[in-house]
Amino acid sequence: MAETYPITDHHFDCVVVGAGGSGLRAAVGMVEAGLRVACVSKVYPTRSHTVAAQGGINAALGNMNEDDWRYHMYDTVKGSDWLGDQDAIEYMTKNAPAAVLELEHYGAPFSRTPEGKIYQRAFGGQSTNYGKGQAYRTCCAADRTGHVLLHTLFQQALRHKVQFFNEFYALDLLMEDGACLGVLALRIEDGSLHRFRAHVTCLATGGYGRVYFSATSAHTCTGDGNAMVLRAGLPLQDMEFVQFHPSGIYGAGCLITEGARGEGGYLTNGDGERFMERYAPTAKDLASRDVVSRAMTIEINEGRGCGPQKDYIELHLEHLDPKLLHERLPGISETARIFAGVDVTKQPIPVVPTCHYNMGGIPTNYRTEVVRPVDGDPDAVVHGLMAVGEAACASVHGANRLGANSLTDLVVFGRAAAHRAAELVQPGAPHKPLPSGACERALDRLDKVRHASGDLRTGEIRLAMQRTMQRHASVFRDGPLLDEGCRRLDEVAASLDHLRVEDRSRIWNSDVIEALELQNLMLQAIATMRSAAFRTESRGAHAREDFPERDDANWMKHTLCWVDDRHRAQLGDRPVHSYTLTNEVQPVPPQKRVY
Ligand SMILES: Cc1cc2nc3c(=O)[nH]c(=O)nc-3n(C[C@H](O)[C@H](O)[C@H](O)COP(=O)(O)OP(=O)(O)OC[C@H]3O[C@@H](n4cnc5c(N)ncnc54)[C@H](O)[C@@H]3O)c2cc1C
Repeated sequence: MAETYPITDHHFDCVVVGAGGSGLRAAVGMVEAGLRVACVSKVYPTRSHTVAAQGGINAALGNMNEDDWRYHMYDTVKGSDWLGDQDAIEYMTKNAPAAVLELEHYGAPFSRTPEGKIYQRAFGGQSTNYGKGQAYRTCCAADRTGHVLLHTLFQQALRHKVQFFNEFYALDLLMEDGACLGVLALRIEDGSLHRFRAHVTCLATGGYGRVYFSATSAHTCTGDGNAMVLRAGLPLQDMEFVQFHPSGIYGAGCLITEGARGEGGYLTNGDGERFMERYAPTAKDLASRDVVSRAMTIEINEGRGCGPQKDYIELHLEHLDPKLLHERLPGISETARIFAGVDVTKQPIPVVPTCHYNMGGIPTNYRTEVVRPVDGDPDAVVHGLMAVGEAACASVHGANRLGANSLTDLVVFGRAAAHRAAELVQPGAPHKPLPSGACERALDRLDKVRHASGDLRTGEIRLAMQRTMQRHASVFRDGPLLDEGCRRLDEVAASLDHLRVEDRSRIWNSDVIEALELQNLMLQAIATMRSAAFRTESRGAHAREDFPERDDANWMKHTLCWVDDRHRAQLGDRPVHSYTLTNEVQPVPPQKRVY
């Protein structure tokens, strides 16, 4: 190593990495349980991507019409195309009403019905009575639900005196004998290094949407926690399942919430046809996202797109009452004006399917403990390590997430992580000494990046990776396209050896941070492409043109993918949990999805 790096040590009962909705909910609960908690975040907490969530959060409160958590469970299993773990889905849907009411009591200013109840809107893939009617299950605060959720939880975290380490960049996990002992982080402000020792390390680092060229997610969504897990020699799960949202603004990628269609918006092709009636006669524009994104892509590919290039679809809101738009969809009205130059009361919005959510991530059980296969046990727990939120794969979303189920996932499993930590950790218990050299690999990597003097800038390599992913692992996939994608990605990954970092200082070195984030993205791009090539069937968001059918006999299982430092991938699998936790509900048997 060229330089020595002095390290400051911190000792806590728990460390939560990430201050989005899931990390904050976990941290608040852990403090409530009497534990000392550090929350480490690379951005100021209220800048986490959760702030951008628009449409809402699902819970079967039944404020608009009859609802039941069992219907919510049924829809979620069906939405997951039977790849979701039904024990975890049962846990989430049953606990969702309490988690939303808790948010209300924490002070979240939800939109209201005339009687003063939490207002709930229709969203895609939601039904009452096991597929019979349209449910209204999505609780919202206009189209700024993530904003109010994040700010409410941040205020609770301040009230509970969670100790924040803001603008600290977590580099790697501290591991010994397969157990996690904490995390090593870099303070961005001054370049100093900090070692956080903890009995429980909870990764809440969000998704990795930025592996794609067009994404609705923030530039900070680089899946750092997922990459730390890979570097610790642990696998990621179901990485081939990437959700493309039907309505990203053409050209800009910014999201127009599904709530726009929930409030009565609809899509048309270049012939002015409401084409969703052909693809999903019952659910139409509110079919689940994978279905709508595929239909839009087919319309565009077959020459029925809109505009001079026939390469987008139009989303209409202009028939809706301007008062309703102002009350329920003010945020997207503004986004459409700024990013598409459209007045939604008069013109349609040009939209295209855009990378939106990562169903895959760090495998966990419903208690949020990280699992990996050991000696024939597919569910062996990694001691000291938890994962929540978009980084985790519990797996409640399976092959495709339903709209507004992620915010539910954040608060339900954030809370579950706190409950589990309270069971596992004795407050103030001493920490065993760290093995010598526990940080060496991480420091070595940092040192190499800081002194990288090749001829390729981070932005160039990142763009090559994003374009490869966009072209080869998009809405539709097939064998030759994916094989070529794997080959190209290997080349792009190898070009990391020629990385150049200009800024040599320690103070606010965003050059170094972006390079570290790129290394993390690359590992996940490889895991996504390789897992997609591995799975020779179509399920949920993974649509193979060469294998158009779902193949339950061979593929009703989770994909596992390990990627080593040399970017070599190894694949495996784990069984899906097709059983429930209690006898309050029966497992949902596999069916063909009908829309
Ligand atoms: C535009 C948009 C709209 C959406 N709308 C909805 C919706 O209406 N309903 C719904 O259910 N879902 C929605 N989603 C999905 C949902 O918002 C996200 O899945 C969810 O907010 C992710 O929350 P999180 O807690 O997992 O992580 P994030 O909110 O992404 O936060 C990640 C945290 O990890 C920290 N972090 C990451 N890496 C490091 C590191 N190396 N060191 C230290 N800290 C680190 C960051 O600082 C941040 O605090 C939307 C997503 C987008 C992009």
